[in-house]
Amino acid sequence: FERLRQGLSKTRDSLVGRIDRLVLGKKEIDADTLEELEEILITADIGVQTTVELIRILEERLSRNELNDGAALRQTLKDEILKRLSRDVRPLAVDSASPFVIMVIGVNGVGKTTTIGKLAARFSREGKKVVLAAGDTFRAAAAEQLEIWGERTGCDVVRHKEGADPSAVVFDGIKAAVARKADVLIVDTAGRLHTKVNLMEELKKVRRIMDREIPGAPHETLLVLDAATGQNALSQAKLFKEAAEVTGIALTKLDGTAKGGIVAAICNEFRIPVRYIGVGEGVDDLRDFDPAEFVDALFQ
Ligand code: GDP
Repeated sequence: FERLRQGLSKTRDSLVGRIDRLVLGKKEIDADTLEELEEILITADIGVQTTVELIRILEERLSRNELNDGAALRQTLKDEILKRLSRDVRPLAVDSASPFVIMVIGVNGVGKTTTIGKLAARFSREGKKVVLAAGDTFRAAAAEQLEIWGERTGCDVVRHKEGADPSAVVFDGIKAAVARKADVLIVDTAGRLHTKVNLMEELKKVRRIMDREIPGAPHETLLVLDAATGQNALSQAKLFKEAAEVTGIALTKLDGTAKGGIVAAICNEFRIPVRYIGVGEGVDDLRDFDPAEFVDALFQ
């Protein structure tokens, strides 16, 4: 918890720190306070839609004389944010299929490879056999990175030459995972975002092969988003949601950013479970997303 708290320190300052300076010690809340609060929420990347929702709730409470002081406002806000973060939480049930196929998508640089490595380490630690497939054949560096993670975590990595057909890698990855009786197959995909149509076609093709070889696969389509990009992460979520059936989100780089409020926007606006959060570059820095713990780390 301390580690999470530390990682979230900038977001705590930009969000809760400013809220506290605005409301703590206030004996009375008025419309002006809520207006200032609105600005804080928006600049802390909570998102316009979610901010409007929260402010409306606070206005309602205020009109019913239920917001008597700063402490009450802070508590209501905390409760309402937690409610929105908690609605869709579901940990990934990797035991529900064998091999459980995870397709990882997201634009370059968001932390896709690192997240795959961290997941591989976690599943291996749990005694699961993991195969990684380097489906991003456009960047040689991506496959190399994946191989380094494979060595580090003792997982097999299936890769082809740079420029190879991603579908062929996926096909071989599936064959390898089945032959080696792997518990989990994690497939990296290219993060080039030239046009939405291309992206959609490419992801569709990869999915088709997975489903043909293992009916029902991929069992998880995990979208990786970089929290430090704030509102950009929201646009990416929107784009990928249209291009693929995203079933879960991993939100990276929450450490060292003041834009961590974006978690609320993502949960509230997309209703896709945030499965994991990244709070550092280390192998242990990928945590299950636990809304109560997260909100406590911000508000305590
Ligand atoms: P990819 O292009 O999406 O595969 O991105 P990479 O996995 O190569 O990550 C890009 C950079 O982000 C690397 O330097 C990673 O160490 C770093 N990174 C990934 N996740 C996190 C995180 O949760 N916190 C921090 N601080 N850095 C991260």
